[in-house]
Amino acid sequence: MNHTAIIGGGIGGLISALLLSRQGVNVTIYEKEARLGGRLAFEERDGFRIDQGPTIVLLPDMFQELLEEAGIGRDRYELIPCDPFYSLEFPDGLTFTKYREPERHLAEMKRVFPGEIEGFQLFLKEGKERFTIGKTSFLEESFVNPFDFWKPTNLKSLFKLRPYQSVKSLMSRYFQDERLQAIYALQSLYIGGNPFQAPAMYSLVSFAEHEYGIHYLKGGYASLVPVLEEELRRRGVTIHLNSEVTEIPREGKRVTGVRTKSGLKHFDSVVFNGDFPGIDPLIKRKPTRKYEPSSGCVLFYFGLNKVFDEVNVHHYVMGESFSDHMKDVFEEKKIPADPAIYTFHPSKIDDSLAPEGKGVLYALVPVPSDTEIDWRNEREWMDSLIDKLEARAFPGLRDAIEWMEVRTPQDAEASGLHRGGSFGVAPTLFQSGVFRPQVKPFSIENLYAAGASVHPGGGIPLVMQGAKLMADQLLNDQKDHAIKGVNVHV
Ligand SMILES: Cc1cc2nc3c(=O)[nH]c(=O)nc-3n(C[C@H](O)[C@H](O)[C@H](O)COP(=O)(O)OP(=O)(O)OC[C@H]3O[C@@H](n4cnc5c(N)ncnc54)[C@H](O)[C@@H]3O)c2cc1C
Repeated sequence: MNHTAIIGGGIGGLISALLLSRQGVNVTIYEKEARLGGRLAFEERDGFRIDQGPTIVLLPDMFQELLEEAGIGRDRYELIPCDPFYSLEFPDGLTFTKYREPERHLAEMKRVFPGEIEGFQLFLKEGKERFTIGKTSFLEESFVNPFDFWKPTNLKSLFKLRPYQSVKSLMSRYFQDERLQAIYALQSLYIGGNPFQAPAMYSLVSFAEHEYGIHYLKGGYASLVPVLEEELRRRGVTIHLNSEVTEIPREGKRVTGVRTKSGLKHFDSVVFNGDFPGIDPLIKRKPTRKYEPSSGCVLFYFGLNKVFDEVNVHHYVMGESFSDHMKDVFEEKKIPADPAIYTFHPSKIDDSLAPEGKGVLYALVPVPSDTEIDWRNEREWMDSLIDKLEARAFPGLRDAIEWMEVRTPQDAEASGLHRGGSFGVAPTLFQSGVFRPQVKPFSIENLYAAGASVHPGGGIPLVMQGAKLMADQLLNDQKDHAIKGVNVHV
């Protein structure tokens, strides 16, 4: 039986382990931290629990189908549709809410942006066409063999995704109002991309919200981790926690196993699930490429003595100028003076996250990564953001706070994320598709990769899809080896 080591127990590593073990591969996971889940984690304190990272379940069909393929049935977790999806509140007092139900959403468009209905309908129509193409020729395709990407039929399909245009400029094709353009372009920030530069195919995200909805995983997104862990342990997958892999030794065109503080262990194949740029030192290879990190985040987590029933689960407090905010983050790389803030207040629909009558709140501020800024010294700026939240969305917030924690790009970098980017390497044109690290990244026969910095990219469902592409590749390679009569048993 093939024995595979998976380095990292993030969602990419866990889904890889589930898919491979289901096909009879003997899997061992090495995780450097004391728990599995990676970015899927909770901030926990005094009976309160709030997601640290992912909050929005996008592409629920893809998410559920991939979990099923990994052996996790729909009865083992609960997805709650969010309706409304979220509201966006602008400094001039304008508030726009996105609804799940098309009629209700159209009524809201008519109320707030009456001249923009036709453009919105065109956005939906063209978005559907692009999504169909993008799913089959991008998300579900691996480009381990670059010729698969450069095939004329594939290029023709991909060209329809308008890679030469940015998400923001594509939105200006549909919408006149700058605010509406921002409302439908800001979703590239979900994967740490600059809406003014990320190729237009990433507009699939804002389209997918309308097509498939936004969901909340009951108990918090990170409550998925124990479900996956339980299944892995039931199947006999070996899990080593507190076990950092420090080397993946190589012999010629193959890796031979992994080295941890306990010594060297041999494996037939190795899957790397850490943030991809971190693979070079492990295989003792000089970096041949400089990866641009995605944006960073300053994150606030609050334990509250109340629940704010009047605010939606997901909410945006917009700044005066979204384009200035993006310029600060991606071009000038400075502390954004007046940023848009995303808030997540799951206590509105889930009372399991805090003691009775109390609540939790999360606020995310997109900020630059890869800077010398010492975020811990920026208390005044952080205070101004809490004031803004209080003034614009959560009246009485300061009085309601029982505790607060903050995470910054420095914490992200310390946890192993490339240059403090929260979402993996940035989704730029030249770090997407064939240009992104692939599931079999080098001409090393038995070394694989899965995770947000690997094709097809970041966000939980996409990382799961990447794990599937990786597992298919590994299983096929194993079959080829068996046919050629190579002994892969250790
Ligand atoms: C603030 C924030 C908000 C987000 N919001 C959303 C959202 O709403 N919806 C969504 O779908 N996605 C969201 N994401 C993105 C999503 O969290 C990621 O795409 C996904 O979790 C990445 O999973 P991964 O497996 O690639 O990596 P990780 O979760 O980073 O896991 C990698 C694991 O590898 C381990 N590791 C690394 N190196 C080694 C080593 N040498 N030895 C042993 N172990 C090692 C790490 O400790 C870690 O546990 C968000 C991310 C952040 C940070």
